[in-house]
Amino acid sequence: MDRILKENPNFADVAFLGDKTTNISFEFFPPKNEQSDKMLWQSVERLAPLNPRFMSVTYGAGGTTRERTHATVTRIARETSIPAVAHLTCVNASREEIDEIAQDYWNAGIRHIVALRGDPPGGGRFEARPDGYASAVELVEGLKKIAPFEISVACYPETHPQALSPQADIDFLKRKFDAGATRAISQFFLSPEVFLRFRDRVAAAGITAEILPGIMPTSNISGLKRMAHSCGIEIPERLNQLMDSLDKDDAAIKQMVSMAVVTDLCGRLAKEGVDSFHFYTMNRADITSALCRLLGRQPA
Ligand SMILES: Cc1cc2nc3c(=O)[nH]c(=O)nc-3n(C[C@H](O)[C@H](O)[C@H](O)COP(=O)(O)OP(=O)(O)OC[C@H]3O[C@@H](n4cnc5c(N)ncnc54)[C@H](O)[C@@H]3O)c2cc1C
Repeated sequence: MDRILKENPNFADVAFLGDKTTNISFEFFPPKNEQSDKMLWQSVERLAPLNPRFMSVTYGAGGTTRERTHATVTRIARETSIPAVAHLTCVNASREEIDEIAQDYWNAGIRHIVALRGDPPGGGRFEARPDGYASAVELVEGLKKIAPFEISVACYPETHPQALSPQADIDFLKRKFDAGATRAISQFFLSPEVFLRFRDRVAAAGITAEILPGIMPTSNISGLKRMAHSCGIEIPERLNQLMDSLDKDDAAIKQMVSMAVVTDLCGRLAKEGVDSFHFYTMNRADITSALCRLLGRQPA
């Protein structure tokens, strides 16, 4: 072993992707029933000791999880020492209703919102209500009038499907920052080059705010393919073949391969100077927790 280390000085570092200064944050969705509630809280309890910068909770399409999102966010705030963040969308609600939800969050001590336009439940194109917020830009402006929230917004390395062009999408992102957002969290992606190219285009547009890469550490391969397909995320050919070949394998194999794939993705981003990662946990802790350990995070 000594000889191998001497001849390959970086060998011992091979599995380590970052150090304890690497920033992490986690996203959860509100649970639907008792069983998923239990799974969520087990995951929160396992991931909170890794000391993420924040833990956010999504808002169901069309506001369908308004109460559950609120309950989950405020419980994270009460029961952990990690800043809890609420996602909020403009769909199916008047400005007044959205403002009231935001004011309730502020009163409950929640200081950070992920401001989104959202999509209609059941799919289709978003139509703004005459009395509603028409886009994430308007929502950010509205939230800033209510209280000095910290605001994160969404961005799309592979371009939002409704954008007129990749450049128009980045111009729109800039408007969200001009309106008061301080950070963008990216849609998930499966190829590091996609994020790195996007980072360059964002910088070329004069945006200096933080762009957090959204990482999807899941071993639900059919679910991942479905999501990638519906969000317009490119699956690199070799990854596609690998995923197909795992179809009939058992859960343990899928989990190990998924871990390797996502480790490679984060490792290649880390090598290019990315030092902050946002994890779409899907309310599961295993892969995310292992990955964060490789990124240098130790549980407190
Ligand atoms: C990190 C992250 C978290 C998310 N969380 C949730 C969640 O909790 N709940 C949920 O329902 N959905 C969520 N989504 C999905 C999101 O709601 C959808 O992607 C939605 O279609 C767009 O929301 P947005 O805030 O990006 O919209 P916007 O930024 O308002 O618009 C999306 C794109 O459309 C174009 N566009 C819109 N309006 C204009 C305009 N006036 N002029 C020119 N171009 C325009 C721009 O290209 C823009 O990038 C999330 C997405 C991400 C990436």
